[in-house]
Amino acid sequence: MARYIFITGGVVSSLGKGLMAASLAALLQARGYKVRIRKFDPYLNVDPGTMSPYQHGEVYVTDDGAETDLDLGHYERFTGVSARQSDNITSGRVYQDIIAKERRGDYLGATVQVIPHVTDAIKAFALDDQDDHDFILCEIGGTVGDIESLPFIEAIRQLRNDLPVDQTCLVHVTLVPYISAAGELKTKPTQHSVRELTSLGVQPNVLLCRCEHPLPETERAKIALFCNVRKDAVIQALDASSIYAVPLQYHGEGLDDEVLRHFGLLEAAKSPDLAIWDDIVDRYENPEGEVTIGVVGKYVGLPDAYKSLNEALVHGGMANRVKVRIKWIDAEIFEQDDSDIAAQLEPMHGILVPGGFGERGSEGKIASVRFARERNVPFFGICLGMQMACIEGARNTAGIDGASSTEFGATNEPVVGIITEWMSKEGLQKRSADTDLGGTMRLGAYEAVLAHNSQVSQIYGGATQISERHRHRYEVNSAYMERLEAGGLVFSGMSPDGLLPEIVERPDHPWFVGVQFHPELKSKPFDPHPLFARFIAAALQQSRLV
Ligand code: GLN
Repeated sequence: MARYIFITGGVVSSLGKGLMAASLAALLQARGYKVRIRKFDPYLNVDPGTMSPYQHGEVYVTDDGAETDLDLGHYERFTGVSARQSDNITSGRVYQDIIAKERRGDYLGATVQVIPHVTDAIKAFALDDQDDHDFILCEIGGTVGDIESLPFIEAIRQLRNDLPVDQTCLVHVTLVPYISAAGELKTKPTQHSVRELTSLGVQPNVLLCRCEHPLPETERAKIALFCNVRKDAVIQALDASSIYAVPLQYHGEGLDDEVLRHFGLLEAAKSPDLAIWDDIVDRYENPEGEVTIGVVGKYVGLPDAYKSLNEALVHGGMANRVKVRIKWIDAEIFEQDDSDIAAQLEPMHGILVPGGFGERGSEGKIASVRFARERNVPFFGICLGMQMACIEGARNTAGIDGASSTEFGATNEPVVGIITEWMSKEGLQKRSADTDLGGTMRLGAYEAVLAHNSQVSQIYGGATQISERHRHRYEVNSAYMERLEAGGLVFSGMSPDGLLPEIVERPDHPWFVGVQFHPELKSKPFDPHPLFARFIAAALQQSRLV
């Protein structure tokens, strides 16, 4: 049976619990343990799929088609373990299941209550799908004290009694603020937060104290005393130079040692092999050059909205040993009459149009594609970005003046239109414009067949079939393929049945690739995605020309 590590957060949100969970899992993995990480989200949405990126950041899509919290992206990037639907649960999903059961009469007349029905459902989720893992890490979203996280904390309390003694550990992440007027770090918020947790019947075993200044021994001892935790288990977590430095830094502070000591495993544990993390940090912190990539999108005010994209670009930089400077550009500025697109885009060594939804900014994105095509600047279009590349090609190289997407309203030239039917592993899927929005897109891993001798097949190391993750409701309309190809676009990747365009490229351009899927979701610092590695290589080439 797996051992369970629960991770809660106190004092404030945004303490980096997700990164902490991912880093701890990576450290355990480096000692040879098999790990899995799960996220419990207390909000009432069934999944984050329908939330605005400004509310929630990116929606991370798994191979099995779940729309999940962006922390699952950190988990995957740090451990290489593919996340699954069973790794993310929300209060909304728990209640949806319970209410469906209640309506079916499954509770046989019982009164349905938070305890035990909601807590049982949360526990069942935590215990489900364990395989042969050594550790399951469960991160609880939100901050201790939130009303909506109470059933999750209660479920942990119960689980700690249900599971065998010494099989669970609770790591509480807190903030130790520095008050500059007093020149002191303050432990009181941590004490209060632990008191809140213990009042719910849950005693933390390890405290990870986020701080901007080193935590003196006296303060560490005070936290240990007031919070009923061993002094060695009060871990200092200073801000790291980058997210990639976090595993090594937390190891240096003894986090993994303390967790293993708690389980009585430290003596027998192997020392961790951290060579890959040394290499990652070295590549990140000691680049030998720099490229600037312009990302022309919509949610540019919140980098979390493009979390995986940002990381995949960094990984592409690591693969080429260069720093990637990202310039986030709001596509709408290119729609104003006085906008000077050349002045904005000329300094870019590569232009990327990312995924997105809705009409706003689409003309600005199309204008950016045109700039990249005409000026021979490396171009990478992802999902909506590929659709924009096809509309640009249709209008300006295939003579289809009114080319547009039905996502933006009625059009006589639907170069991009809604997908009404496609084959999935579960069989034929059908959709229409009236279908519910939640969970109904073409989601998760689908295969694509690559054309021989295409640029993408070369990028994928000569592969002829690939699998990538999707999240879209519209597709490039195959009825226009021939005319688009006459304009110079080549459809070099198609769904295995030959019906859905998956990849376009322009052989007459130094580097111009559009993909209907999201390659950024599968990029890892220790295994940069080949499309990002090659895009950055092309940008590096471009930087030597300008
Ligand atoms: N809005 C487009 C669609 O639904 C693109 C989606 C995306 O970029 N993820 O097809």
